[in-house]
Amino acid sequence: MIRCNIDVENLPVIAGGEDYKIWDLDTKGVFSVKSSKAALKTPTEVVPCANLFTRQVVHPTLSVQYWKIWAKQCCASEDNIIKKTSKSIHTMCRLCRKSCETLSHITWHCKVARRIWAWVAGIFKLQPSEDLVDSYKAAKGRSRMIKDLWLVANLAIVTELWKLRNKSYFDNMAVQWLGFKGRVYQIIRDNSIRMKVHMYNTLEELCILNYFKVRHRSCKRSTPIEISWTPPNQDEIMICCDGASFGNPGQAGSGVLFRDASSEVLGVLCVGLGWKTNLYAEVCAIIYGAIVDNRWNMRSICIRSDSKSCIQAFQKGDLPWQLVQKWNIAKSYYINVRYIHSYREVNFSADASAKQACLLAEDIFEFYEGRPGFIPSVE
Ligand SMILES: [Zn+2]
Repeated sequence: MIRCNIDVENLPVIAGGEDYKIWDLDTKGVFSVKSSKAALKTPTEVVPCANLFTRQVVHPTLSVQYWKIWAKQCCASEDNIIKKTSKSIHTMCRLCRKSCETLSHITWHCKVARRIWAWVAGIFKLQPSEDLVDSYKAAKGRSRMIKDLWLVANLAIVTELWKLRNKSYFDNMAVQWLGFKGRVYQIIRDNSIRMKVHMYNTLEELCILNYFKVRHRSCKRSTPIEISWTPPNQDEIMICCDGASFGNPGQAGSGVLFRDASSEVLGVLCVGLGWKTNLYAEVCAIIYGAIVDNRWNMRSICIRSDSKSCIQAFQKGDLPWQLVQKWNIAKSYYINVRYIHSYREVNFSADASAKQACLLAEDIFEFYEGRPGFIPSVE
């Protein structure tokens, strides 16, 4: 049992019926190739900047060129030659003729590099940095569109600087500042065609987009939604359920608030769940709510939750496999079960009790008769 990772003290409840197989590497207990593959695979380390290349705005050509320069170290700069051949050679930067030709020098410290970085920093009003991830973080707080454009600018500058070095090294071409800047500008502009995201409607952002003549410009407009709350029917008890976890998975808890037809708070239940996912906590809230609801002897129950995926899981019967039996037992008492999805803004009292429940240890149940102090009152 221990070898199979089964806790004898904490076995699922037996509720009779036919035996069936459970694949416990999947949350729903169903075997899938995806879950078995995930179990076999050892997690590999992901280079921090690799995630940035998945952004749609970056053309594959541009990301591959950058990748070859930084990750594959394919350029014949002094540091790369020493790394690959362990022989030291003396080189000189062809662009400024002042320093040795290392990758860091060409893409960041060289005179030409300094000038192009200052140019782009002036347009975006952002501070670039030699490390791509740090540089990208400088755009924090800007719209997704500016972040994308800033990322493209960073990649374009590094790759173009390397191409410039190659031209002066192999073709003896003199550095022409305007031509070089124009090429970087054109690459940023070309990649902007791939953009599909939103900008903030500010003058500052509009100036940047105007400068690069970006054609795609869309703003996110927020439209207010009317929300309402209705008390349960005369023969029902309403349970307002919510689950919360600090991280997903993380220290989790479920909170349930019981109300009668006159909207009065009958009681509040907080359950500590230990290390669980958010969905698990949401589902647990409904199940424990339904179990405790028995004490008022009403055969109809109205379940209000702010998680749509949780309500759908109940309606389709796609619950986490550990909880299926518990739910079958809990629901057998009721004749009518009604589900209502509502926004968190309406379900605030359950939200507050779930946050309180997160602080409890695993399997600790706290029940408050009436309205406890931590539940705000709006009546
Ligand atoms: Zn130089």
